[in-house]
Amino acid sequence: MMSNNAALIERDLSVLWHPCTQMKDCETLPPIPIKRGQGVWLEDFEGNRYIDAVSSWWVNLFGHANPRINAAVRDQLEKLEHVILAGFSHEPVVELSERLVKLTPEGLSRCFFADNGSSAVEVALKMSFHYWRNLGKTGKHKFITLENSYHGETLGALAVGNVALFKETYDPLLMRAISAPSPDAFLREQGTSPGEHAAKIFDQMEELLERHAEETCAVIVEPLIQCAGGMRMYDPLYLSLLRDACDRHDVHLIADEIAVGFGRTGTMFACEQAGISPDFICLSKGLTAGYLPLSVVLTSERVYQAFYDDFEKLTAFLHSHSYTGNPLACRAALATLDIFESDNVIEKNRALATKMQQVTEPFRTHPNVGDVRQLGMTLAIEMVKDKEKKIPFPWQQRRGLKVYQYALGKGVLLRPLGNVVYFMPPYVITPEQIEHLAETAWRGIEIAVAA
Ligand SMILES: *Cc1c(COP(=O)(O)O)cnc(C)c1O
Repeated sequence: MMSNNAALIERDLSVLWHPCTQMKDCETLPPIPIKRGQGVWLEDFEGNRYIDAVSSWWVNLFGHANPRINAAVRDQLEKLEHVILAGFSHEPVVELSERLVKLTPEGLSRCFFADNGSSAVEVALKMSFHYWRNLGKTGKHKFITLENSYHGETLGALAVGNVALFKETYDPLLMRAISAPSPDAFLREQGTSPGEHAAKIFDQMEELLERHAEETCAVIVEPLIQCAGGMRMYDPLYLSLLRDACDRHDVHLIADEIAVGFGRTGTMFACEQAGISPDFICLSKGLTAGYLPLSVVLTSERVYQAFYDDFEKLTAFLHSHSYTGNPLACRAALATLDIFESDNVIEKNRALATKMQQVTEPFRTHPNVGDVRQLGMTLAIEMVKDKEKKIPFPWQQRRGLKVYQYALGKGVLLRPLGNVVYFMPPYVITPEQIEHLAETAWRGIEIAVAA
């Protein structure tokens, strides 16, 4: 029996340890207990409502309590909640695999399921390494990653990530990855286009591949947007150059589309914008539209065949997670794909993306906004101390947190990444709600930069 926020907060703070949180902050900024969700709205125990402008950490696609996904999960619940996927199978996981093979870039024909994004990254890394080993290339045991990249929190995923805030503390525990400079368009010189910048930065990747190909299993990238790294975006040219170079050097390409997949960049998958097929694609987050934890790695028939042999040869991929391919999660994913198809979502999102672009146009001339960047349904506004020189505010000042607090008071959940305020809303947001996001962000930024 819970009727107000305070009582639940008190119980929460006496037993919980929240993710990605300095718990001491909760003394002044306690967690907000949510009673129900409906569409873009989250509602607390006192009737306050918030627009979920970050899609509850980039997972929600079609709103909270979506009737169609609810119905699918409910239907599945009456039939089969879960079954072991080794030695057994079920209809939702088969159908989902068939549809993902059709939907993802050409050449990806095999689905291996896990239950969260980091695990999918671990699967791709291990599979790539193991593939080369099965081919007798035991010297390949390294990975190349981009600076400012993020691939998850488990030790393997953390090792190929590159955001200091998440990684540095654990450095002694991590395998050594080789890092290449990011093609991040924000870092380009004035007068250079994002494409020119990507091509120039790629030279260093080419050099690393030349030097390390013999010992490298794969290059892992977040296609087009380095999300956790501050929604930094780069030109698709980098991906086509990378695909070509990986082929020439006999190195795999792993596309981590955990955040950018399912329409966030304006196309179903970000790789499509470069016209490439990776050797591995990792999907999670939007896969179930924010309903249930599920992830999948798709790979090629060539990789699959390298593991296919008599058991005694010990070439099998002996990796599993307890909730691998959970039927409820697969049904949520199937309902999600149904909505994409029947509602022509990718097409319709274009109007919403244009709206986001229009309402944030005035931010470009704000004296403390260093960049407004957008790809499809992801839009980021970067606060800077010095607009000309793009000098950031010191992170210790926590300016983003001031935007967060202001926005909550205005009924908007914005959760800036450092100095980067961004919108990554569910696709059911309305043009009027987008206007409200922009107004709130504007006022929030004014307060944050003045402080
Ligand atoms: C969120 C994310 C992950 C990790 O997924 P989890 O489900 O949080 O483990 C990996 N890669 C990218 C690009 C992500 O954004």
